[in-house]
Amino acid sequence: VNTYLSEIERRKELNAFLEVFEDTVREQAKRVDEKIKSGTQGRLAGMVIGLKDNICFKGHKVSASSKILEGFESLYSATVVERLLMEDAVIIGRLNCDEFAMGSSNENSAFGPVKNVVNTSCVPGGSSGGSAVAVAAGLCTVALGSDTGGSIRQPASFTGTIGVKPTYGRVSRYGLIAYASSFDQIGPFTNSVEDAALVLEIIAGKDEYDTTASSRPVGEYTLSDTPSSRKIAVIREAANHEGVNEEVRAKFEQLIQQLTDAGHQVEEVSFPYMDQMVPTYYVLTTAEASSNLSRFDGVHYGHRSQVAEGVEQTYTKSRTEGFGPEVKRRIMAGTFVLSHGYYDAYYTKAQKVRRVLRDKTDEIFADFDFVLLPTTPDSAFELNAVSDPIQMYLQDIFTVHANHTGNPAISLPLGKKSDGMPFGIQLMANHFEEKSLLEFSDYLM
Ligand code: GLN
Repeated sequence: VNTYLSEIERRKELNAFLEVFEDTVREQAKRVDEKIKSGTQGRLAGMVIGLKDNICFKGHKVSASSKILEGFESLYSATVVERLLMEDAVIIGRLNCDEFAMGSSNENSAFGPVKNVVNTSCVPGGSSGGSAVAVAAGLCTVALGSDTGGSIRQPASFTGTIGVKPTYGRVSRYGLIAYASSFDQIGPFTNSVEDAALVLEIIAGKDEYDTTASSRPVGEYTLSDTPSSRKIAVIREAANHEGVNEEVRAKFEQLIQQLTDAGHQVEEVSFPYMDQMVPTYYVLTTAEASSNLSRFDGVHYGHRSQVAEGVEQTYTKSRTEGFGPEVKRRIMAGTFVLSHGYYDAYYTKAQKVRRVLRDKTDEIFADFDFVLLPTTPDSAFELNAVSDPIQMYLQDIFTVHANHTGNPAISLPLGKKSDGMPFGIQLMANHFEEKSLLEFSDYLM
């Protein structure tokens, strides 16, 4: 803990931590030390974990990197936090992210952007940029993030770390500040597949506080045997996508060749829905966000405008002052697609597209063990380089698939470009196939 605390201090310019829980982390560490002495420690004893600033930890601040939650303190801990503590992990602090997890570069935080540790003039990806950088820079052992459209996998790709988005419903969302509830999942950032497996196994499982958390038994994710010949689908439309950088493409093709040489069956499949992925995601997630974020009204939580007179002004001025531009854009888009006159044209239509994506993906997994695709079309871009929101939204072209369909997916470091910037490979598996996903990931590493 002391080492991490001094590293966090030394790398302050990265802006990864919004707050270090200095007092409580030392107390926790002492308690775990005692347990280790008496041989009664849990499975995560000594593991130092950071939390994305949208995961609640009782008695500590949480803000979703937004001014609207200024001064708010969690009244309870997220289920994932309870489970980590039960196994004697220590929680070191909260990590910067895009406001309400909306973004792909961590530039939408009310507390300034996070810098990529590999090259500090580049973004770390988002929205869980602080979590990715904390793990990449060695500021904690593991960090939790949340992934609604790629927010764990894309920053993992940009920082050379491992990031897992579990099956929808595998991990409880209780205590996660909701962005788009039918897409959100919590998952770990790690430097090894082994740590990812251990942490995921502990945080996964049914939860009486979240009815969307599956009651399927979790089993053991800890890695056992080396996978024999596997059937792997490569989505043609992703592999050949025009936006994919040449160096990323070359490395991707090299991996496919290596897998084929090693006796795995790699086949191209067609999944002609690339153009629908991102628009459908933004119709559905903004709709859910506009509803989820209506609770931030200047009355229930956090910031209240000091210049408002009356109830109506309290609502409008608190929200105007508290939310940043991207969050406002999404609330307005979501309110629009849910409005009486446009509901069927946008929201209902998008639900139908989502169903098609899910059915077609299930068809692929009826024949294959995994789907392999790049995590991101390219490596991290420079800070302030992407100002057009639509351009930014296209960052998620390969990651939103797994959120639409609920499949588990992992990003693993694949290589580095000639400029030294890392990029990842993404592996998707069938629903609740976390164990084989992690086993095969370990084999790939
Ligand atoms: N970049 C995507 C967005 O802005 C994904 C974010 C996320 O997964 N939370 O919505």
